[in-house]
Amino acid sequence: MTAPAVSAVLFDLDDTLYPQSSFLAGAFDAVAEEAGRLGLDRDRFRRALDEALSEGSDRGNTIDRALAALGAPGTDAAVLVKAFHGFVPARLEPYPGVPAALGELGRRVPLGLVTDGHVPGQQAKLEATGLGSHFGVVVFSDEIGRSYRKPHPAGVAAALDRLGVPPAEAVLVGDRPDKDVAAALSLGMRAVRVRTGEYAARPDLPGTFASVETVAEAAALLLPLLAEAD
Ligand SMILES: [Mg+2]
Repeated sequence: MTAPAVSAVLFDLDDTLYPQSSFLAGAFDAVAEEAGRLGLDRDRFRRALDEALSEGSDRGNTIDRALAALGAPGTDAAVLVKAFHGFVPARLEPYPGVPAALGELGRRVPLGLVTDGHVPGQQAKLEATGLGSHFGVVVFSDEIGRSYRKPHPAGVAAALDRLGVPPAEAVLVGDRPDKDVAAALSLGMRAVRVRTGEYAARPDLPGTFASVETVAEAAALLLPLLAEAD
């Protein structure tokens, strides 16, 4: 039994198409500037942010944890969170080979993007990568609701629906086994995991279609599997 040809490829954004750390570095610089305006020691707070982040970006409340570590009670964390969300990166460099890989795949089949997180922030990131034009469909899962972030399959299902492609004929490429791969598998899609970014060392989920180093490798693997154009 052979799997059906691939008629669409969906991608995750953060740590799949560009390093999320490059965004966070700029955003935390902006937060530290704001902290300086509030009277905190800007450089110490910037280091506290990095330390809080080193416990994992998934933990959330990075700014609160940095404030706690610095012993700055009474600081208005909401102002700092606003500075974080208001940060607009000028340019986020994609991982090497990503524009070419999207170009090659996108000439053959439609591509989609499914990304979690604060919607204006995710829009600004996509814009800064310069990759937006490759995608026929972009789904910001938070527009459906925060509880629909991956591994919830709703965002991925919405992208496939808009492309008119059934899950069995689609592949999702993403860096997170627990989020991207899990969402794809729950829909009966094939999942290609890339080993880039903060979670590169996490083990693969059973049932992962392929696990490769980069999006460029993922594209090389997928090109022979794509459906022929009519
Ligand atoms: Mg990701």
